[in-house]
Amino acid sequence: MAGLKFEVTRNTKPKPDAEREELLKAPVFGANLTDHQVVVVWEKDKGWHSAEVIPYGPIMMDPSAAVLHYGQEIFEGIKAYRHADGSIWTFRPEANAKRLQLSARRMALPELPTEIFVESLKQLIAVDGAWVPEPVDEKTLYIRPFEIAAENFLGVRAAQRAEYRVIASPVGPYFTGGLKPVSIWIALDSARAGKHGTGEAKTGGNYAASLLAQNEGYENGCSQVMFLDAESATYIEELGGMNLFFVYKDGHVATPALDGTILRGITRDSVVTLIKDRGLKLEERKITLDEVREGINSGEIVEVFACGTAAVITPIGQFKSRLETIGSADAEPGALTASLREELTGIQYGKVADRHNWLVKLSD
Ligand SMILES: *Cc1c(COP(=O)(O)O)cnc(C)c1O
Repeated sequence: MAGLKFEVTRNTKPKPDAEREELLKAPVFGANLTDHQVVVVWEKDKGWHSAEVIPYGPIMMDPSAAVLHYGQEIFEGIKAYRHADGSIWTFRPEANAKRLQLSARRMALPELPTEIFVESLKQLIAVDGAWVPEPVDEKTLYIRPFEIAAENFLGVRAAQRAEYRVIASPVGPYFTGGLKPVSIWIALDSARAGKHGTGEAKTGGNYAASLLAQNEGYENGCSQVMFLDAESATYIEELGGMNLFFVYKDGHVATPALDGTILRGITRDSVVTLIKDRGLKLEERKITLDEVREGINSGEIVEVFACGTAAVITPIGQFKSRLETIGSADAEPGALTASLREELTGIQYGKVADRHNWLVKLSD
């Protein structure tokens, strides 16, 4: 398995250098994709085979392909960072590989071995390295590995053929003009994940389930949605695509415990480690909306932030719902929030010592 060899077919019509350079000046997340993609096929009787790097382009798919009907789809999000010496690195790829395996188990898809996952990133960067932006303004290449049920069969069962693919898109800074606290919409009328559901899997369906509340949030001036537990709408879970942290006046930090309905964010896990490294108390436990409301109103909670690969660490200024507003939209980003963000991006760009060996080199 470790020996799976990638066949490389170069794109004969890559984006011209000048056009790519122009795009890299102000990349828009997800709008422009690189010149190549990775494909690895799995079949029930053959296992993983046919690993290839091919030109970026449409997937030829039969209308009866299982993914289009029963939603067997999982994905990952990981970035490639260019360091000052030109080398290209990524952050904790084994953790993403493990999570893709966890998502696969839950969605009855085949588990891609960790070494094929890491190799697939190296293979893509080997041909599309020029798409990794210079390390200014927090620009990176966002990499999107994903797996789909690719069997042409309308029967309801776990697909017997699947495809793993990797595509990538350059991204600019999430925040332009400095860190600005965002407003978060509290979903009171829809839940993202229930007990024993798919909340812990990084699967498209969870995102589909979050979009109605996201639209409601947009209509109310909020950029993201916070979901509560599906059963009692009492406990805070997470945002549609980011995990949450609360900083208290006495210096300790709390984040909702992973209970099977919350996505196991790799940024979350890294932030937990960085907080503990600083000697601060970190609690992973149940947190109620009542506690957050009272804490923010009384000044007991002094900072709130969300984290994920795309936006790294995002300060939160206020929470809103159809019933209330908690906090203030013009809050300043907190000191711990800003300093954790600085430290984490510093590690990713090779400017701060990588004490935990989180970085993996993709290319010289
Ligand atoms: C991807 C994701 C996160 C963040 O995970 P990272 O590994 O930190 O990028 C958080 N919540 C949800 C629902 C996600 O899909």
